[in-house]
Amino acid sequence: MPATTIDGKKISKDIQTEIKQQVADFVAAGHAPPKLVAVLVGQDPASQVYVRNKERACKRAGIDSALIQMDATTTTQQLLELVDQLNHDATVSGILVQLPLPSGIDSQRVLDAISALKDVDAFHPENVGLLSQGRPRFLPCTPFGIVHILKRSGITTAGKSICIIGRSDIVGKPMALMLAQKDSPLGADMANATVTLCHSRTKNLAEICASADIVIAAIGKPEFVTADMLKPGAVVIDVGINRTDQGLVGDVDFEAAAEVASQITPVPGGVGPLTVTILLENTLKAAQLNQ
Ligand code: NDP
Repeated sequence: MPATTIDGKKISKDIQTEIKQQVADFVAAGHAPPKLVAVLVGQDPASQVYVRNKERACKRAGIDSALIQMDATTTTQQLLELVDQLNHDATVSGILVQLPLPSGIDSQRVLDAISALKDVDAFHPENVGLLSQGRPRFLPCTPFGIVHILKRSGITTAGKSICIIGRSDIVGKPMALMLAQKDSPLGADMANATVTLCHSRTKNLAEICASADIVIAAIGKPEFVTADMLKPGAVVIDVGINRTDQGLVGDVDFEAAAEVASQITPVPGGVGPLTVTILLENTLKAAQLNQ
């Protein structure tokens, strides 16, 4: 039987409606609206689209936003000075530096300079450390969005075997940490998984994948995960966004995988919409923390 396609857009919209109410409650309690400042360096077209989407989502939720656009020739020092200014600006709740930065900029130094209390992307070492100790402050947007997707699709993770393909600092690694913890902000049944974190040096990847109850693909290779790599009834979460001649394609061969899986996220319209939504959630949290 073909899998159910998980509607990430609907899940995202539902959560955004809840966040909008929480923002309204926060403002009604006498606080200024949360404010997200996005910093965009250079003219990367995809980054411009992402930043505009984030601004629009903020507006819908009642969150103030501002975009600071900087020239591609900006130096690391100039960016560090801007971040320092934003760190000390009491009207700013959250700071987002859109990646990738131009190659001449020391991205790590810039991300490390963002105040850990305004780090809505959850990239700061302090926030990564807190997550790894099981006492998260901010949760990284894409992985936490996936936990929301699973929960709202009636899928628990406790006791399940989960294969994550890709070990990036943005997706795979924090995803593995989150699912292997004893607890989650969404409940203990949304953690406590047995996680295998695969990467380009993994041996028997297909075999590991085929034994998993849940497969999360974050590789960046079009249709890498094929139907024969899946256990019948597995849940498949496709994080990949690959631009091909056929349009946007995920890391999973969707059509074939849908014949084997029980539930599957599409690309686009699966994980992507949740990433922005969790950014809103983190911006509200930052405003509450910075009171
Ligand atoms: P990275 O390029 O940072 O990491 C890719 C990972 O995949 C690496 O760990 C790499 O292994 C692994 N990998 C590459 N080739 C293979 C292979 N043949 N076999 C097994 N593992 C392999 O990517 P990101 O995590 O940043 O992004 C992954 C995908 O997700 C991209 O398509 C990106 O566009 C998308 N994405 C989507 C988001 C959303 O909101 N939906 C948000 C963020 C990313 P190794 O470490 O050994 O090199």
